[in-house]
Amino acid sequence: QSSRLFHPESIVIKTKHSIISNNNFTIMAGPCSVESKVHVMKMAQAAKNAGATVLRGGAFKPRTSPYSFQGLGEEGLIFLKQAADALDMDVITEVMDETHVHMVEKYTDIFQIGARNMQNFSLLKAVGKTNKPVMIKRGLAATIDDLLNAAEYVASEGNHKIILAERGIRTFDNKYTRNTLDVGAVPVLQSLTPYPVIIDPSHAAGHTELVVPEALAGTAAGADGLIIEIHDDPDHALSDGAQALSPKQLLTTCNKARAIKNIV
Ligand code: PEP
Ligand code: MN
Repeated sequence: QSSRLFHPESIVIKTKHSIISNNNFTIMAGPCSVESKVHVMKMAQAAKNAGATVLRGGAFKPRTSPYSFQGLGEEGLIFLKQAADALDMDVITEVMDETHVHMVEKYTDIFQIGARNMQNFSLLKAVGKTNKPVMIKRGLAATIDDLLNAAEYVASEGNHKIILAERGIRTFDNKYTRNTLDVGAVPVLQSLTPYPVIIDPSHAAGHTELVVPEALAGTAAGADGLIIEIHDDPDHALSDGAQALSPKQLLTTCNKARAIKNIV
């Protein structure tokens, strides 16, 4: 059972280089997609400089259009892990399909379940059978109870290393803000579950200039960490360039977030 009623103590997730829990603040950063060996290495260095202990990067991309860049696949995972290993960082990457779980597991420290797959119950059960932490992103139109049930699917298979991510939901206005960041979800999820709650301001905001205020709002609401997309040449990014922070913007944002959290 995932509820606080059965699990009053916060769950502490320890990976090689990170401690993810209600008593810590974890920064995950990296490109939306792994683009090349050289590029992901450069972005890993930028993430590390900002204090990130987890390197993000997609190799299997759930794109809105089937004609958009779909990711480098397993080769991308090799590049991602090489960059993380070189800098003593953990890897988080999305697993899109239950048949890929064992292959992705070889390269990642944390599985990411994408918003579009939040109710893919066979995928949730498959990652629930592994021993690796699983970050579940709230679906585009998922209620908090839907997200809790997604977590329950993972937990029911025996894996309680669960991280919940609020990444913005669809509301009636998506012209200026891609999605609406539900900051209230942070304290609600923390009160209902023992799991750490991470804010993804990048996919919530959709636009670079909105990422910083949403990151700070999520932090102020009590988030246990942030996951942020970065790029050094956003105009030519293979995905999500419009919402990427530059390495410098990432550093100043993380510094501000740490100041809110009173971490020096
Ligand atoms: C991503 O992390 O790049 C991503 C596709 O996120 P989401 O599933 O939240 O849209
Ligand atoms: Mn993205």
